[in-house]
Amino acid sequence: MAVFWERVSFTAKTMQSDRVLPSADEITAWRRYLHSRPELAFDEVHTATFIAEKLREFGCDVHTGIAETGVVGILGKGLTDRAIGLRADMDALPITETNDFPHRSQREGCMHACGHDGHMAMLLAAARELASGEEPDGRIYFIFQPAEEGAGGGAAMIRDGLFDRFPMEAVFGLHNVPGLEAGSFATRTGPIMAALDLFDIRIAGRGGHAAFPQNSSDVIVAAGALISVLQTIISRNVSPADAAVLSVTAVEAGKTYNVLPDTASLKGAIRSFTPEVRTAIIDRVLAVCRGVAEAYGVSIESSFEVAYPATINSERETLFASEVAQDLFGTDGINGNCAAQMASEDFAFMLQERPGCYMLIGNGSRQGGCLLHSSDYDFNDAILENGAQYWVALAKAWLARSSV
Ligand SMILES: [Zn+2]
Ligand SMILES: [Zn+2]
Repeated sequence: MAVFWERVSFTAKTMQSDRVLPSADEITAWRRYLHSRPELAFDEVHTATFIAEKLREFGCDVHTGIAETGVVGILGKGLTDRAIGLRADMDALPITETNDFPHRSQREGCMHACGHDGHMAMLLAAARELASGEEPDGRIYFIFQPAEEGAGGGAAMIRDGLFDRFPMEAVFGLHNVPGLEAGSFATRTGPIMAALDLFDIRIAGRGGHAAFPQNSSDVIVAAGALISVLQTIISRNVSPADAAVLSVTAVEAGKTYNVLPDTASLKGAIRSFTPEVRTAIIDRVLAVCRGVAEAYGVSIESSFEVAYPATINSERETLFASEVAQDLFGTDGINGNCAAQMASEDFAFMLQERPGCYMLIGNGSRQGGCLLHSSDYDFNDAILENGAQYWVALAKAWLARSSV
């Protein structure tokens, strides 16, 4: 996920309770260790081993090898069929870290630049606290998902039977956001992250000598017209009340000065929040392609690939999660109606299968930036306890509910 969030005013409250979270130093040590040993999508072998060992040490029933490197820890038996899933992502990015602190990545070209090291540490800390108390009446599933960064690990876990093997009523995710006040929370009901569709367009015409265009059907002129008209779809065919983006991101045609090529190709991406808008945009892309083909005497083929559905928070679970955060950190500590973001998120696949809530936690601001997916990013250790407290309170409150 790559976003830069608005700032909100927030003063972190320290939770006074009889909590037995691991000490902040210990959670920080886990986080920094994971940061120093990043692994890319579906290659999180060492990471999975570390997580599985910790979960076993805490007393969880541990299942490994789900979608290759995914791990699920289970806590509780209980008399009810109440069950909740808490999900953290595991993979790093192909980025060379430019930080020089001692816990920087030990692997050239691989870095935890999206904070998944922090997400894992927060969920491990919650697992340890929940395991140290009375056995829950119901089940808590700690889901450690591989390959969030574009490789479809969430969908792969579902194909591997995540929700069949581990039946749960709802599933919850938590991701850090630089720019949002450190340790505060933000979410919203409905779409919170965008759907992403990729498209490829191939234009075929008749090439020839550049001095005699009357003998050709020029694919480059057709491509230019197509790019311009595609840009009118969002501004003219989508309601201003509905956010969407269409970007042409690659253009390829021709090789030299005096030849009109006979093919051109475009690549691009469409981002939207609702199925209706998504379908309307794709229908318009197809119509524009047909019109430009007719007008310019070329043939145009297009194909679309659904990369991510929109991440859609269900109302009941989002209100529930927001109340949990508010009880812990006060009304200033949670924005329950934050702006949706145009980035996409693999957790969307899980929310297609079960109701739930994707929650954001502020990573704070740092002089000079510290954006997600940047080579100088680092997870803010000061927010680890807030995240772990949220997970613990959410699981306890969910299992304590009297009815589904
Ligand atoms: Zn990311
Ligand atoms: Zn991420």
